[in-house]
Amino acid sequence: MSDAPSMASAGKPDDAIYQTDALIAEDIDAYLEAHQHKTMLRFITCGSVDDGKSTLIGRLLYDAKMIFEDQLAALEADSKRVGTQGQEIDFALLVDGLAAEREQGITIDVAYRFFATEKRKFIVADCPGHEQYTRNMVTGASTADLAVILIDARKGVLVQTRRHSYLCHLLGIRNIVLAVNKMDLVDYSQEVFDAIVADYDAFAKEIGIESYVAMPISGFKGDNITTLSANMPWYRGTPLVEHLETVEVNSARDIDKPLRMQVQWVNRPNLDFRGFSGLIASGSVRPGDAVRVLPSGKTSTVSRIVLFDRDLEEAVAGQSVTICLADEVDCSRGDVIAAADAPPQVSDQFEATLVWMDDEAMHVGRAYWLKLGAQTVSVTVQAPKYEINVNTMQHLAAKTLGLNAIGVAEIATDKPITFEPYAENRALGGFILIDKLSNRTVAAGMLHFSLRRAQNVHWQPTDISRDTHAAMKNQTPRVLWFTGLSGSGKSTIANEVEKRLNVMNRHTFLLDGDNVRHGLNKDLGFTEADRIENIRRVGEVAKLMTDAGLIVLTAFISPFRAERQMVREMLADGEFIEIFVDTPLEVAEARDVKGLYKKAREGKLKNFTGIDSPYEAPEMPEIRVNTVEMTVEEAAEHIIRQILPLK
Ligand code: ADP
Repeated sequence: MSDAPSMASAGKPDDAIYQTDALIAEDIDAYLEAHQHKTMLRFITCGSVDDGKSTLIGRLLYDAKMIFEDQLAALEADSKRVGTQGQEIDFALLVDGLAAEREQGITIDVAYRFFATEKRKFIVADCPGHEQYTRNMVTGASTADLAVILIDARKGVLVQTRRHSYLCHLLGIRNIVLAVNKMDLVDYSQEVFDAIVADYDAFAKEIGIESYVAMPISGFKGDNITTLSANMPWYRGTPLVEHLETVEVNSARDIDKPLRMQVQWVNRPNLDFRGFSGLIASGSVRPGDAVRVLPSGKTSTVSRIVLFDRDLEEAVAGQSVTICLADEVDCSRGDVIAAADAPPQVSDQFEATLVWMDDEAMHVGRAYWLKLGAQTVSVTVQAPKYEINVNTMQHLAAKTLGLNAIGVAEIATDKPITFEPYAENRALGGFILIDKLSNRTVAAGMLHFSLRRAQNVHWQPTDISRDTHAAMKNQTPRVLWFTGLSGSGKSTIANEVEKRLNVMNRHTFLLDGDNVRHGLNKDLGFTEADRIENIRRVGEVAKLMTDAGLIVLTAFISPFRAERQMVREMLADGEFIEIFVDTPLEVAEARDVKGLYKKAREGKLKNFTGIDSPYEAPEMPEIRVNTVEMTVEEAAEHIIRQILPLK
């Protein structure tokens, strides 16, 4: 090691020129050019530390004459003096380093490592193997072309082997390598290998894995890694590295499918140029091709395909390009440019698989952001149809999905999105859910299909518009949304406000919590999911009433910020006025108009807001009234004064 350069200093101008590939030494430009045109294989390694994952990755990096990412950057920055590390690194030290790195990174995310061989570039995602890291594995697997599933030859197929295989299959990885590792510890026995493969085969068929490649290896000794091992003459396949170098990557497979490109941004440097830039997810495109822009459905013809400063004759799946169209059709970020005669579908209701990734469980009915590539829409999730036990693949009944749970549910978006089933197209079928308040990514999902009802229910346009209704009443429709603890004074104050508005000739309607629960929502209870659904329905009713031109007053505890936000988003800008009836719990409890606090304290009433169910106070309500300081009349007066300028 003493003469070898340290990794960090490789490629710096002061360094001597080390043993390098002949090509690098002779012609760096040619080398970089060749390097640039190598295909990239993204793969994931699955298994626990004990299965020898770090050792295997170390072996690949060590044997594959790897070039690390930082070295590559240095290489490209400094084309005069270069160095590769190759065989100089001590294998044991490398593996220890990788293992330590993984241990540190284990709770954070996925460790990605870059290396290259003569034939191909690789990104390997090294994901922790335990069940509590399912979300990390899903992250790594979602972009991978191939998965190496490691099995310890002494242990055979384990529960985790099944879990990893299932997740990889679910995430659309079609190239699976079953690497039966530590063959040196079972005397390179063909019987042991064959028994493990037979065992795995039965399981793989069960979950729909159509093909996989099984290899007997030793990451530690290097058997069947770069060259075929003399210790296992009975193995007729290829060494692992050769397989990784030659297996078909996803983008190659996707070229034969119809064209799909999601527009990442509209490129308009000047008035003469308008191009749509993005990654071609599938198919190929040439100037003159007829295309359709989704969701609008408008058609046009490709006039140019531009890559940096050159025009291309053809672009294919896996390439990022800019497409120019012959007509001035509307097309913006998130739209999809597709083959005119084979466009993807557009829908707003789906069945999907969800992998829950947040500590806080899924809230049925709550609105989340759904991000599918460059499309972002609001979405609500129904109660799961079932949860999948990732170890046994059994379907279980579930009310929600907790951290790392995987389930199938129906979802509905507020606007139609352009999509394809995930199994056919990862780019247009894979999405994430984001919590609207915390901005955390809470789930990853895969669209299965559009629900037929979404295609059959269309919004009915009516001739008398909401503006006509409002104009006849000579007022601007609003929703005055009162929120606060039970007994805070919502109904009382809302009632007073309504009386005053009526004196002023305003057309109003008061929707009261208790009254709605007797009719429209009598099927709902007080669980979190039911409360969310209660508010969603009230929001929809309030919205219809504003369409009718009314000023709507609602008096619901509406304890969760997210649901109030959901209603706010259902309505036009400025139409939702949140009124926080701010009464301390002690005061509301002392009033106990309906005797409910007493019951709740005695344990006779479950899920009571303020006692055993939370109330999330508004952070920035339009209006706040403090009923300790204000009488009912003063509170009403205060509210009227605030909304009057709004007409
Ligand atoms: P909620 O609709 O929020 O459950 P209610 O309006 O039904 O609450 O009950 C509030 C009770 O508190 C009523 O009996 C009301 O007379 C009493 N109250 C006392 N002071 C006030 C005040 N300043 N504002 C509103 N209500 C008050």
